[in-house]
Amino acid sequence: MNDAPPYRDAGGSILQVRAEGRPEPALDDAERPQPPSRRLGWAVCGLGHFAQNYAIPAICRANEARLAGLISGNPVKAKGVAAAWGVPDRSVYDYSMCGLADDDTVDIVYVITPNAIHEQNVVAALEAGKHVLCEKPFAHDAASARRMMDAARAAGRKVMIAYRAHFEPNNLALRAMVRSGDLGEVWYATSDHHRPIDPEAERDQWRMKRALSGGGSMMDIGIYALNGLIWLLDEVPRTLVATTFSPETADGRFDEVEAIAQVQLVFPSGRRASISSGYVASKKRIDLWGSRPVAVLDPATAYRGNRLVLTTQDGDQFPASAPSEQQFVGQVDHFSRAVRDGIDILTPAEMGLRDMNLLEAIYASASRGEWVALNEDGSLR
Ligand code: NAD
Repeated sequence: MNDAPPYRDAGGSILQVRAEGRPEPALDDAERPQPPSRRLGWAVCGLGHFAQNYAIPAICRANEARLAGLISGNPVKAKGVAAAWGVPDRSVYDYSMCGLADDDTVDIVYVITPNAIHEQNVVAALEAGKHVLCEKPFAHDAASARRMMDAARAAGRKVMIAYRAHFEPNNLALRAMVRSGDLGEVWYATSDHHRPIDPEAERDQWRMKRALSGGGSMMDIGIYALNGLIWLLDEVPRTLVATTFSPETADGRFDEVEAIAQVQLVFPSGRRASISSGYVASKKRIDLWGSRPVAVLDPATAYRGNRLVLTTQDGDQFPASAPSEQQFVGQVDHFSRAVRDGIDILTPAEMGLRDMNLLEAIYASASRGEWVALNEDGSLR
């Protein structure tokens, strides 16, 4: 039979064939993007490898943010990036950030330049009245971190450090397990963060120069081991001893910065930890040696594919987890909410300064060849 109008539903009622406004559907619980007027405008400062491959895509995928501006020392590159991501030419600035103060479309500046350049960029952004997300490490030394915090106080603006692992699902699951006691007693922890430096790569040029990086593998990626263990175990070490090693190579890549660093840490609870960093091998893992399972994050802090394994005498378990890529969007949305709604920042400037203090203590211990005692803020006692 031909299904000609009027159509009828199963109960025999006539179905409307004209366009008709239906009532509001029930909404499910999924987080949805904020409308444009509620999103914070982000400008990215420094358009290098991490900025273009991870930071800008994360801002564009975030629920609470929109890419509103770019800051670069290279106008040709900046123009290309602006065109690719739909940033208007009027919101592209050089590092002087001249004119940024009058740009109401930008609320937050994300600083992604070499470590020793962070201060210049962070202070300029703060003086333009913007809030700042600053890449790790906060600076190349603790004095620079303190000056940035002074500038933030003077400007009445917020600063967050981009410790993305605090937003990574496997890391978050492990932290929850430590807190709930699921690992039993954890009196020992290890973390090793290594990635080969490439003397030919553009992005590694400044890493080999102490004046721009502030240090070698410990400053660059060992900071993940240090910051990660303190966060997971919820205590700051009381004493430490460190050694560093810079082998001679034909290309001179370790002439100014250490290739390898090794640190023994003692925490106020008595817990021991051993961390290492390197610019030779490729591996990033964290092991918490619990009395029930031993928890292993391997990889622990990769951009994608991190994995938590719980090892017991009866075999390995792999807790379900969300994709690691959420970490990038997670930190962008978190800081947007901190600026807009005033929620507490999970990785504040104080944490960045504490880690700079600890890095200085590590290098001091390595150069003196002795154990050093620490204050609660990580500085040398
Ligand atoms: P990169 O060399 O690829 O980018 C650095 C950018 O800064 C370039 O665009 C460069 O032009 C610009 N720049 C400005 N002043 C400079 C100067 N005086 N010398 C050299 N470059 C200068 O480096 P990257 O790997 O993107 O690292 C940048 C920052 O991001 C560093 O602080 C690094 O620690 C951090 N980072 C974080 C992650 C992470 O996972 N969170 C990953 C990589 C890098």
